[in-house]
Parts: sequence; C-alpha cells; structure tokens
Amino acid sequence: MTTVQTPQAEAFEYRAEIRQLLNILAHSLYTNQEIFLRELISNASDALHRVQFEMLTNREVASPEIELAIHVQIDEDAKTITISDGGIGMTREELIENLGTIAHSGVEAFLSSLQEENRPDADMIGQFGVGFYSVFMVAKEVRVVSRSYRPDEEAFEWISVAGDGYTIAPAERDERGTSVTLRLKEEAVEFVSNWKLEQIITKHSNYIPFPIYLNDRVINQQTAVWRQLPSEMTDEKHNEFYRQLTLDFEEPLVRIHINTDAPLQVYALLYIPSRRERGPFGRQTDFGLRLYSKKVLIQEHAKGLLPNHLRFVEGVVDTEELPLNISRETIQSSRAMERVRKVLETRLLKELGQLAKDDSDRYARFWREFGVFIREGVATDFSGRDKLKPLLRFVSSFEAAARSEGEKGEAMLVSLAEYVGRMGKDQKRIFYLLGEDLISVASSPHLDYFRANDLEVLYLVDPMDSFMLMGLEEYEGFPFQNVDDAGLELTEKRRDETEADAEPGLSDADFGQFRERCAAILGDRITKVRETKVLTESPCRLVSPGDAPSRDMQRVHRMLKPDFQAPRKIFELNRHHPLIRNLTTLVVSRPDEPLIDTAIEQLYDSGLLIEGTHPNPAAMAPRVQSLLEIAAAALVNKHD
Ligand code: ADP
Repeated sequence: MTTVQTPQAEAFEYRAEIRQLLNILAHSLYTNQEIFLRELISNASDALHRVQFEMLTNREVASPEIELAIHVQIDEDAKTITISDGGIGMTREELIENLGTIAHSGVEAFLSSLQEENRPDADMIGQFGVGFYSVFMVAKEVRVVSRSYRPDEEAFEWISVAGDGYTIAPAERDERGTSVTLRLKEEAVEFVSNWKLEQIITKHSNYIPFPIYLNDRVINQQTAVWRQLPSEMTDEKHNEFYRQLTLDFEEPLVRIHINTDAPLQVYALLYIPSRRERGPFGRQTDFGLRLYSKKVLIQEHAKGLLPNHLRFVEGVVDTEELPLNISRETIQSSRAMERVRKVLETRLLKELGQLAKDDSDRYARFWREFGVFIREGVATDFSGRDKLKPLLRFVSSFEAAARSEGEKGEAMLVSLAEYVGRMGKDQKRIFYLLGEDLISVASSPHLDYFRANDLEVLYLVDPMDSFMLMGLEEYEGFPFQNVDDAGLELTEKRRDETEADAEPGLSDADFGQFRERCAAILGDRITKVRETKVLTESPCRLVSPGDAPSRDMQRVHRMLKPDFQAPRKIFELNRHHPLIRNLTTLVVSRPDEPLIDTAIEQLYDSGLLIEGTHPNPAAMAPRVQSLLEIAAAALVNKHD
C-alpha cells in the first residue's frame, strides 16, 4: 500500500485530543494489542446489522445481492491485514465525521482513565466509543475504503499515517461496504499470521452473528447462542458470551435462559452482573437489553423490554413477534413489545424468587448489590410493586440480636413472609425503624417496648428506604408502622407484662418539676416534654409528631438538601429510669446543681444522635468530658 495521493486528495488535521490519544496508543506498549481486531470486527458487524435493518425496512440499498459477511485477509509481503465488510458503508462526510472530527467525549474519558492507571490497559477502549483508534497500537498506516449503501454514493478512501492528520480522496470500490487495511509496525508484524488471527477471532469474536472469513474459510461459530437449547448451554458458553456482550470480566451472578414458543416465541439470555459498579473500566455508558428480531439487531440498548428499575439486567432478547417494518421508536410502544416485556419480567422475578429459596447466600449477594433497584421499583412501579415485595429483605431486631450473641458474619436477612410468619397472633402491624446505620438503630430507645415484648422490628437504613416506604403501605393486609411515631398506641405483645415497673415511683409533683426544668432548658428546640408509655430501659427519647409518610419523607428532604431543618420533636421521659429519678431528686433538693442542666442537654443531644439528626456530634465532646470529670470526682469522694 502506498500513500501517494491522487490529485483530488484533501488533507485534514485531527482534533487536538484525538492527536494526543493516537500518540499515546502508538507509543505505549500495551499487553493486549490484539483487541484491535475485535474492535474492527465489531464495527464491521454493526455496519452489517445496520444495512440488514435498512433492507428489512424496505429501503433501497446498493448491491443488495452481496453476502452479509466479514472478510479478513493478510498480505505477508506487504505486512498488511485487511478487514472488509458488506455493511452500511460511509460517505465522504461520514468518513470525516466518524473517523476524524467527531467530538468524542469518549476520547477524553479514555485518556484520563489511561492516565489514572499505572499500567495502562487498552482493552476497554471499545467501551469509550473510540475503538477504531486501537488500530494505531499496531499499525503505522491505516487505509479505509468505503462506499455507502445509498445507491447514488461514490466510494472514498481515508488514509492516516499514525499521529498526523488524514487525507480523503475518491476511490475505486464497486460494492457497498468498508475495507480497513492496516500496514503493521515492525513490532507488530507477528499479527500477519493466519494461525494467530484465527486464534484471536475465535477468542474475541466467535459469536458475531455474521460469517467471518479468513482466507475464504469461515472460522467463527456465529450461532445465535440464545437460540440453543438451555441444555446445550455450558457454563463456559454462558461466561464467554456474557464477557463478549458486556466486557465484564467477572462471571455473572445470575443467568437466565429463556427459550419458549408459547404464549410467545421468545429467546433470551439475561444476566445479572456480580457487581453494580464494575471498576474504573467496566463503566456502562448505556443500559438496556440488546434486541433482535428474526436474528436482526433492532436495537443495541432497548429500554422498553424490562421495567426501568430492572435496568441492571444485561442480555439479549430475540423474538419474531415484533413487526419489523416500523421505526425503532414505535417498536418501544408496540403491543408486541408489551407482551415480550411481560414474559421477561415474570420470568426474571420468578428466577430471583427461586434463587432466594435455593441459595440464600447468593441471594444475599444479589440483594447487597442490587437491592436498591428493587426498593426503587416498590417506590415507583405502582402496578408492579406487589410482585417485588416478596423479593425485599431486611435486617431486623431479631437477626441483629442473634448476631451480637456471637454468630459470625453479616446479619441474616429477613423477608416479609418470614416476618409475618413469626408474628404473634395479636400483632396486627409490621414495625420498622428508620435510621442512618445499623449501629445507631440498634441502640435506639424506640426499641425498648418492642424488646420487652419480644416484637420484631425491621431496620431500614438505606437512603432508598424512605422512598420505598411511599409504595410499601402493607404486606398481606398488615400495615407498616414506624416505631418512632408519637401517636403510637401499643397493644401488641408477645410476652406477658412483667412487673418491672413496681418500684416506688416519683411523686407527680416532683416529676412535674423535672419536666418543667427540661422544657425551660430545651426551649423551642422541642415541641413539648411528656411522660412515655413505652420506654423501659432508656431514660428518654425523641418522637416525631405528624403522620408517618410525611415524617419518613423528612429523610428524603435531608438527603436532597443537607441544610434541611428537621421539624422539632417531642421529648419523652421515662420516670422509672434511675437517671431520671436521680435528676428529679436533684431538681427538687438542689435546683442550682449545674449537673442538672448539663445532663438534660446531653440527653437531648444523645437523642438527636441516635435519630441520626444531630447537626454536629463533635460539639458534644467538651460536655461529655465535663460529665466524666464530675463522675470521676464523685467516685473518688465516695471511696475516700
Ligand atoms: P463506535 O463503533 O463505538 O461508535 P469507533 O471508533 O469504533 O466507535 O467507530 C466510530 C464510527 O465509525 C462508528 O460509530 C461508525 O459510524 C463508523 N465506522 C467504523 N467502522 C465502520 C465500518 N466498518 N462500517 C461503517 N461505519 C463504520
């Protein structure tokens, strides 16, 4: 190949960031240079899919008779590799735009990710939408000859010598499609080998659905794997297909093969990745299943095939039910699409339910990574939420207690069915407690009554939980009830009442004095001070007036607006608690004792802290210290 320019050749410069990218690619030694072939074959396959789609939608295309195939050829003397396709081709303008000037945000993203890594890896270049440029790892010169599928377009060539700009000139090519010829650098001539190319193609591009010829012999499998019988799908095939589809190098956590004729004909391979975040390179630019109809790729990221909250699912769907002669946009809303979606959603949720039954560890992993999407679904999908409720899992007061008694590992998760299944016969509600994290909810005074009466409480500590509660009114007829509700009337009990409260109490007058003192000290930081009906082990707590949904939404407001002021609360006192009794005695006998006010402030602050609403916990440190000083001095005096 020579780059002698025809008289009509026009020279162009790359944009600055593309020049920088090419420079890095050309001069760094990457370990997996072979992926350039995967990128070119993937581009060729896209081009074939697109022309196939044009033909099916009855548009007129150039050279309708040619085979939809990819050819790879080497020239050992010239040290070149050529990848040709009969795909959609490019016009002169498209060559300039697609290969030269387009403002790729991907270029910058890829550049910065290369800089972050100590040992840069070019493998993920395709995910940044700039895969074509990977050829500059191995080629010193690239020539692209292309002819658009539009019948009245001519052929053009695009030539680039690594690093500099490129030229465009008219070219000879009879059929539509594109050929990319790479003249290899000295260090990369090892790729001019049929054996080597065959190895690379079967490794990276085996399931490309068009034949890939290497010197007139088809070397890829091409079978649409999803059309095979599930019994024919080995673990290896699944993993390999998943890796080619997603470029995720970890095995999927869940895989589902749908191969059904009734009520609809649907073939699908659905995968749940093992992680929600796949590391710096595994970023997803878009979501949605790859949609084929009659083996033709209709959409790379079809959004309407699953409800939005199941967007973490990866995979391929192939169905003959979709009408092809309509636009991609209208496919989304077609009745057929709706029916396919039902099949996929139902099956997916069924498999997840089954997984929870068969393998609770694996399900727990799923829940940790993707539970947030299920919660989102409960909050947002009005018609689908009942199907999602059985998938919900919670940490509860029962399981957390079991863990602290010495069981290893994470707390067991509880389903709503398990919760309801072990409720006492008088329990009519599902109790929950919202909080910032498991440690602070577990020490919440709101739990006193529930502990004393052996009632289970669900701990809701995920930021998404407040949203979820909007859609979670009841489960099997049992309403949900927040335990910090000021108006909570507690009748449910599992244990008989104990006689714990039988000690000689404070007089109403004395206790009244202490209440007044609290009200005076805390002022308008609280709405009022009152006696508790539910605390047994804790001295006091803060409870929220107002109805539950609006209170749960306060958390949402706080998440969205960090300076959101939580509404004031009721300060509830347990007059049977020794601390409250002693403080009351002090108020009555030595009202000027400074410890009283310090203690009240600290009780209030501790309440805020446990609620997760303390604006500045560190500010408590000096007061805590002064309380410790008083306590230590008192102990020393006692023993003197
Ligand atoms: P991506 O394929 O992710 O969009 P690339 O850098 O690999 O990014 O390719 C850039 C663009 O060049 C493609 O989007 C496509 O429009 C065009 N292109 C590349 N190869 C071909 C080809 N063989 N046939 C037609 N168009 C192509």
